[in-house]
Amino acid sequence: MTKRGRVFAGIRCTGRQHLGNYLGAIQNFVALQEEYDCVYSAVDIHTITTPWEPGELRENVWETVLDLLAAGIEPERTILYVQSHVPEVLELAMLLGMITPLGWLTRVTTFKDKVRLHPDHVNYGLVGYPVLMTADIILYKATRVPVGEDQQPHLELAREIARRFNRLFGETFPEPHAKLTEAPVVLGLDGVNKMSKSLDNHIELVATPEETVERVMTAVTDPQRTHRHIPGRPEVCNVYSLHHQFNPDQVEVVYEECTTAKRGCVECKQQLADGINRVLAPFRERRQELAGRPNYVEEVLADGAARARVIAGETMAEVRDKMGLPAAYGH
Ligand code: SF4
Repeated sequence: MTKRGRVFAGIRCTGRQHLGNYLGAIQNFVALQEEYDCVYSAVDIHTITTPWEPGELRENVWETVLDLLAAGIEPERTILYVQSHVPEVLELAMLLGMITPLGWLTRVTTFKDKVRLHPDHVNYGLVGYPVLMTADIILYKATRVPVGEDQQPHLELAREIARRFNRLFGETFPEPHAKLTEAPVVLGLDGVNKMSKSLDNHIELVATPEETVERVMTAVTDPQRTHRHIPGRPEVCNVYSLHHQFNPDQVEVVYEECTTAKRGCVECKQQLADGINRVLAPFRERRQELAGRPNYVEEVLADGAARARVIAGETMAEVRDKMGLPAAYGH
């Protein structure tokens, strides 16, 4: 039953998700289930467009899926699957590749960034990343994609490719639009960069309460506050920002006590860690329970892939027909 339309989101399989992923994206994916038909994919193939360890990939896919389920993705009403389990997406990406000018792809900023970051890994898959992303979305004729402002150019490219297909072969795909989130950009423990696993400035959702305290204690605060008696500037302190998420009813007190030097940073961080542990306790409990039921998680993914392939199969039959590819003989 269609609700307000279909949403697609791909989640890179970087392993255990962190607070930044949770606040910036996962919470929103969970909320969108109320209003939309959602299709969520653990995008393992996207993950290998940059260097990867084969020995870790499978584990990372699994950890990502556990985090999504524990956070509240409901497989009864949402399709959750692993990207490579729906191979139709690769066929569609290849076919879209025939109508996507190379110049559209090489001008993408993230492509240029990745070329700089991984000069020895500039390959066909990397330049084709936005085509695969387009295929992911339009394979399900999704109309909404939850993205942050920074991903808007990718989505614009997906729209351009969908439009081009429609122009060449007749109206087939709806244009996917951004479902912009109001989620905050979550800074890492360094207080400067976006929270990220690769920068090791993150807190894993699944961290134990003790690990959480330990990590929060390393957070950089107001650099001018070199002594306990010097008033702080909460507006430049990421611990203060995070209190908004995890201790919203304490924000005013934190502000007042920090700016009047009534509280020290250690106690402030302890309070934040307690808030994180409190908010994440139900998540952690569910995750532990799911980790002990691998058969159930496998069933969820098998069922998700099967449901995804039904939609994908219909789309691909239409695409092949419109592009003039001969139907398979003997059917
Ligand atoms: Fe930041 Fe809290 Fe220290 Fe103020 S008291 S600088 S808000 S950690």
